[in-house]
Amino acid sequence: MKILLVEDEQKLAQALGRGLGLEGYTVDNIADGKKALTRISLHRSDYDIVILDLMLPSMDGYEICKQMREMNITVPILVLTARNETDTKVQLLQSGADDYLVKPFSFSELTARIRALLRRPSEKLPETLAVGDIELNPGERRVRRSGKEIPLTLKEFGLLEYFMRHPNQVVNREDLLNHLWDFNYVGFSNVVDVHVKNLRRKLDSGGSDSVLETVRGIGYRLTQ
Ligand code: CA
Repeated sequence: MKILLVEDEQKLAQALGRGLGLEGYTVDNIADGKKALTRISLHRSDYDIVILDLMLPSMDGYEICKQMREMNITVPILVLTARNETDTKVQLLQSGADDYLVKPFSFSELTARIRALLRRPSEKLPETLAVGDIELNPGERRVRRSGKEIPLTLKEFGLLEYFMRHPNQVVNREDLLNHLWDFNYVGFSNVVDVHVKNLRRKLDSGGSDSVLETVRGIGYRLTQ
């Protein structure tokens, strides 16, 4: 799951980025309002949720919400507000935000809100994803194959979740990079291949048939 964090308080942004990273989310941070709107308009399908501070340089959070909705960008928006900003609730919901959190907030409160928004009925996420004999539970972050638990790293888990949400489709390396690595990542696209190779080895470790095939020159496909 990939988050766009729009926050100009550098220390807070760094702390949130680190914490959410440890929870298995990939986080892109942008400190400027207009830049954030440009990013989301060009890369709308990359993000699963937007966390938006209200007071930002060049364009405030209300305006960003409003313009996103006008562009029919439906990604859930969680707004961060300061305590002294009264009347914000109605205004926020009118501007298209899905939920808000008053600063200072606890990290566990934030992750609970994120999980709730990702479960919204508009894009309802099932409790457990199943493809063939593989089961993945995003909430518990567990994977089983034929009932046997398979321990995965965060990146491997993220890759498998992505494949399981796109079963029988060819997924290219670029999609995987965009979804699972942040935009500051500088490296070789073979980082994807290395993680996929490890994931495949673990999935097949019980002697089961391989379900993750390489589509030469393009990417990968998870087949049932
Ligand atoms: Ca701010």
